[in-house]
Amino acid sequence: MKRQIFTADHEAFRETVRTFLAKEVTPHYAQWEQDGIVSRDAWRAAGRQGLLGLSVPEEYGGGGNPDFRYSAVLAEEFTRAGAPGLAVGLHNDIVGPHLTTLATDEQKRRWLPGFCSGEIITAIAMTEPDAGSDLQGIRTTATDHGDHWILNGSKTFIPNGILADLVIVVARTTPEGGAHGLSLLVVERGMDGFERGRNLDKIGQKAQDTAELFFHDVRVPKKNLLGELNGAFVHLMTHLAQERMGIAVAGIAGAEHLLEITTRYVKEREAFGRPLARLQHIRFEIAEMATECAVTRAFLDRCTADHSAGELDAVHASMAKWMGHRTAQTRRRPLSATPRRIRLHG
Ligand SMILES: Cc1cc2nc3c(=O)[nH]c(=O)nc-3n(C[C@H](O)[C@H](O)[C@H](O)COP(=O)(O)OP(=O)(O)OC[C@H]3O[C@@H](n4cnc5c(N)ncnc54)[C@H](O)[C@@H]3O)c2cc1C
Repeated sequence: MKRQIFTADHEAFRETVRTFLAKEVTPHYAQWEQDGIVSRDAWRAAGRQGLLGLSVPEEYGGGGNPDFRYSAVLAEEFTRAGAPGLAVGLHNDIVGPHLTTLATDEQKRRWLPGFCSGEIITAIAMTEPDAGSDLQGIRTTATDHGDHWILNGSKTFIPNGILADLVIVVARTTPEGGAHGLSLLVVERGMDGFERGRNLDKIGQKAQDTAELFFHDVRVPKKNLLGELNGAFVHLMTHLAQERMGIAVAGIAGAEHLLEITTRYVKEREAFGRPLARLQHIRFEIAEMATECAVTRAFLDRCTADHSAGELDAVHASMAKWMGHRTAQTRRRPLSATPRRIRLHG
């Protein structure tokens, strides 16, 4: 089915992304997977290519275009290239909106130019060893010392955790406040007491530096509060639809990529004197896969268009996230014989 949500400008951007991936990412990716981390040069190259800060105002060096369809193109192409390790989606679509919508003018001047050039790599740190789904259980505390906070605690499962120069940390600023006692504090590379822990071993995303972070009496200046004091929960909820859509788009792009290479494989591979694609059961499998991809794609394109128009609600964003990744996951089993170079997000 012909996709209808992209214009010629989006497709031109897609070509730019493909060229970038072919030149700056794919040749290095196997090495990055071995290293468990991507190179900082790739981030700077992404910045030079205009792939960072797509929605950041131009005065700070960004693309100045909040149209989510450009982010969707990025997610699709990174997934097709099997290169989730360079976490530009996290940087652009999850951390980015917090900086553009919550930062003061002074904070924007300090952080956004580096955010767009790739000099400042970012992360967001919510999860703790004892607080994952239930953010109310966060134990990292920030105590008020006049012109600064003293931050203590730890985080885990933090993508970009090793590379990050700027980390938005969710910390408890009001002990009895429950969900409404949490604030967003920006911790920067080099602050005394801010230490990285292990770069965690994972079953996927091997080139992605997902790490533990530790805070021992870190002095965080008051000017590094992002948004409202005790407003973290509301701030985090505000951008959830975009976070979900980024994950959804990567999911369906992964499923389509698997369909494409599997179809190629069953046409090439011969058994019992003919290509696998001539066997009826294989044809059933491919037909099912193609149907699931097409139906999911139609729904996700609609959600992408709605989100770009500012009209996507939380319910449909959640449906999109679930459906996008379910379509990719249910197709893992029959694909077990296909080439090993497939890399999805999981
Ligand atoms: C790809 C990826 C990227 C991530 N990026 C970030 C990031 O940028 N920043 C960050 O801070 N964290 C990040 N995380 C961590 C993520 O936020 C946590 O893994 C998630 O919140 C779940 O927490 P947990 O792993 O501690 O599991 P838990 O919350 O301990 O949940 C364990 C299990 O308990 C069950 N469970 C939980 N809640 C319920 C419920 N209400 N009802 C029934 N069962 C339930 C579920 O079966 C669940 O699998 C990332 C994780 C992944 C996989």
